[in-house]
Amino acid sequence: MSGATMATVIDGNRIAQDVRAEIKAQASELKENNGVIPGLAVILVGEDPASKIYVGRKEKAAKEVGFLSREYLLPPDTQEDRIREIVIGLNADPEIHGILVQLPLPKHINPDVVIETIDPRKDVDGFHPFNIGGLFTGRPGHRACTPLGIIELLDRSGIAIEGKEAVIVGRSNIVGKPLALMLLNRHATVTICHTRTRDLPSVTKRADILVAAAGKAEMVRGDMVRQGAVVIDVGINRRLDGKLVGDVAFAEAADKASFITPVPGGVGPMTIAMLLHNTLEAARMAGSRGL
Ligand code: NAD
Repeated sequence: MSGATMATVIDGNRIAQDVRAEIKAQASELKENNGVIPGLAVILVGEDPASKIYVGRKEKAAKEVGFLSREYLLPPDTQEDRIREIVIGLNADPEIHGILVQLPLPKHINPDVVIETIDPRKDVDGFHPFNIGGLFTGRPGHRACTPLGIIELLDRSGIAIEGKEAVIVGRSNIVGKPLALMLLNRHATVTICHTRTRDLPSVTKRADILVAAAGKAEMVRGDMVRQGAVVIDVGINRRLDGKLVGDVAFAEAADKASFITPVPGGVGPMTIAMLLHNTLEAARMAGSRGL
């Protein structure tokens, strides 16, 4: 088939907007009823331009929903001990409920050491091994924002997960693997593909829910998509002509899919919305502990 888009395009901007409006209302209720204002601290080490943009967006989004937002902008040569010291201070700070260390960190800093210093209750990125363990065993705790945003997109689009065949292309610790566990916890049958998967199209064609998180521009072609599949595109790639594209060849896949997310305006906006969600939850929990 050519041209006509058959799929329903999932509007991530609109859904993220809805989530943020709900969070804003809930934050204001929390303030009124419990006197708690959710507080988010973001630590950025170095001058990476993309990281600076992300941190700026997170701060703006936090302020828009009425959170307290604090930024720590540290020079690129900051020592690991100094970052740990700041994190330890924030762990004990009653005004702060969420701590986020923007990745990647400069080479001389071990990100695992820094992340493991964060109090798991304040680990709103969901990267601390305690929270990853909670995801593994299906216990409560913070969940990584991008995969959590994908689950939210599916739920809010009325797409059932239980019993579905879900295929994820990509096995990173921040997207592919945690998403696989979240889909498994929601009773999908899950397959994870990666660079050494043999005959990728034969696997992706089985998917009722196909998630592309490989970081390879438009690598998922129309003939890799099953008729009627839900296609979720996590990729963000800059093509040589300057255009921003996902990991899915959108027009081809949209001809086959029942639902599809665009890039930009699909999964991307949900990531920050889920960061706000996690921070609000952390503030609620702290409020209920009387902190
Ligand atoms: P990563 O590079 O850490 O992992 C990519 C994974 O894809 C690896 O497991 C690799 O095995 C697999 N892969 C790569 N090429 C493949 C191929 N040809 N066939 C099969 N598998 C292949 O990437 P990541 O951090 O998980 O990010 C993936 C993409 O998602 C990137 O484009 C990134 O920019 C984007 N991303 C978007 C958001 C968001 O908020 N929307 C958040 C995180 C990442």
